[in-house]
Amino acid sequence: MALADISERIANAELAAGRDAGSVQLIAVSKVQPNERVASVLEEGHRCFGENKVQEAGGKWPDFRETYDGVDLHLIGPLQSNKARQAFELFQSIHTLDRPKLATTFARLAQEMGYCPDMFIQVNTGEEPQKAGVMPREVDAFVAECVSLDLPVKGLMCIPPVEEEASLHFALLAKMAKRNGLSCLSMGMSSDFERAISFGATHIRVGSAIFGDRVPN
Ligand SMILES: *Cc1c(COP(=O)(O)O)cnc(C)c1O
Repeated sequence: MALADISERIANAELAAGRDAGSVQLIAVSKVQPNERVASVLEEGHRCFGENKVQEAGGKWPDFRETYDGVDLHLIGPLQSNKARQAFELFQSIHTLDRPKLATTFARLAQEMGYCPDMFIQVNTGEEPQKAGVMPREVDAFVAECVSLDLPVKGLMCIPPVEEEASLHFALLAKMAKRNGLSCLSMGMSSDFERAISFGATHIRVGSAIFGDRVPN
């Protein structure tokens, strides 16, 4: 079973890194996957999932939640401010806080709604022009700004450039989180989650290794 297999590899990586058992949260990235595959992972008892689009998540998770209790949903894709309210309603964590406008929108919604999802600030560790995320040199100021808005910032998130050694990016993200007093690190995907765990990942986002290749709609 793919889920059991991944869980075992996570446990081994925790052990190898001298980390506590269970200290790494597996976010099963279910974007674009057929509902039957998602349901079978839910049937196995897994409850933590990631989606990259608000609309797609809104189309399937309210139904799954009627059948399965305790679903913990993470937004891992870019968010437009005009979808922030819907994101608040669907997700327990948002990994893609990456600009002041979104931060002020979240702060306003948190006031209005009386709760706020956990926040991760996305960092563009590779400084890639096409990629979302704050630049490494802007991280400290942006964390401070979000904290001053009372947002529950838990940690940092990155998606390393595909053609580069991911370890360098994981190490950089860990260093930036540490100096800002943030305890969570959202990093590592199907191809590199064990390495991410060795660099301190607390949240890994694994899709195809659990569900199989994504079938485009
Ligand atoms: C799709 C996606 C993942 C999962 O990728 P896999 O290679 O299938 O594990 C992780 N993080 C983000 C931000 C994604 O968009």
